[in-house]
Amino acid sequence: MTVHPPPVALLCELTHRCPLRCAYCSNPLALEGASDELSTGEWMNLLDQAADLGVLQVHFSGGEPTVRQDLAELVAHAAGRGLYTNLITSGVLLGAPQIMALAEAGLEHVQLGLPDCEEEGSTFITGFKGGFARKMTTAQAVRDAGLALTVNAVITRHNAARLPRMIEMAVDLGARRLEVANVQYYGWGLKNRAALMPSPDQLKAMTPIVQEARERLKGVLVIDYVIPDYYAKRPKSCMGGWGQQFVNVTPSGTVLPCHAAETIPHLSFDSLRERTLRDIWEHGMAFAAYRGDHWMPSTCKSCDRKEIDWGGCRCQALALAGDAAAIDPTCVESPYHATIRALAEAEAEAGSDAITYRSFTLPRTA
Ligand code: SF4
Ligand code: SF4
Repeated sequence: MTVHPPPVALLCELTHRCPLRCAYCSNPLALEGASDELSTGEWMNLLDQAADLGVLQVHFSGGEPTVRQDLAELVAHAAGRGLYTNLITSGVLLGAPQIMALAEAGLEHVQLGLPDCEEEGSTFITGFKGGFARKMTTAQAVRDAGLALTVNAVITRHNAARLPRMIEMAVDLGARRLEVANVQYYGWGLKNRAALMPSPDQLKAMTPIVQEARERLKGVLVIDYVIPDYYAKRPKSCMGGWGQQFVNVTPSGTVLPCHAAETIPHLSFDSLRERTLRDIWEHGMAFAAYRGDHWMPSTCKSCDRKEIDWGGCRCQALALAGDAAAIDPTCVESPYHATIRALAEAEAEAGSDAITYRSFTLPRTA
């Protein structure tokens, strides 16, 4: 019987509840309700299982994880089991006392989403007025509490021109790391792709800005840069390879190889309410389906990048090529590669501003 090395990281989607309605939210289109969420005891049991399995890091995410009143308790439990703890948050519900309480509970790192460097753009993307100012206050409180801060700047067609200001803002906020992350088109992002996709010219302008800032800010700020898949020539290593490094748990306890895996309809997913984390990780049907190279088309199987990108993203292959076992269409070897690039260019050129937020559609008014 094959026993797989344990996952490095566990992503706990504590809740799908969130006061924001971001146009690119990676939560599923069908959100899970509060009444289905795992209890405090169930999350703690999962953290114990993860530590016993050999997991090293836990990422508390959502939705907005700070809507859970038991967050500090869960952080303390994870830290007590020796897990590195990271909070992925919009920052709009956190005040200095809550951040201090989380730091005292053992939180080590905060990842703060930054949809723009100004209020108007931030409100347009998140559907939430006043969020930008709250994020700034939160970033200051994170720094005051002595926690490590990463700013996740999400790039769209609407804010791409403000990238230099977003970089300077990350420095001013005291972040050690900045992710310049173009939207990944899953979940709500896929639904809103036409309203978000940057143009090839915008992408061309971003690359030297990032390169110059990386040089200038050496020792001050580490900058990660993720280009939109649709303009890439080779796929990214999605989740470090399916079922190899990451495990994702939904608010109700469903265990997934990645946050978008439920979009693949022929897979069946197991719940922590019925099986253990170890059993699901090692023997779950969904994990086995695309782990390693047994499922790969011959082009990938014989490719020298197959253990670098593991064939790319299965959810994207399904969404764009209609087959989860196809070559990721972002790869130049895919027969769909030219089509998706043309699609991205056409959508960027059309310039739609119509966003479907998590509950309704509004045209841009400002
Ligand atoms: S992406 Fe936006 S809407 Fe989605 S969970 Fe994060 S903050 Fe909330
Ligand atoms: S052919 Fe497959 S393994 Fe090779 S780069 Fe493309 S997606 Fe990756």
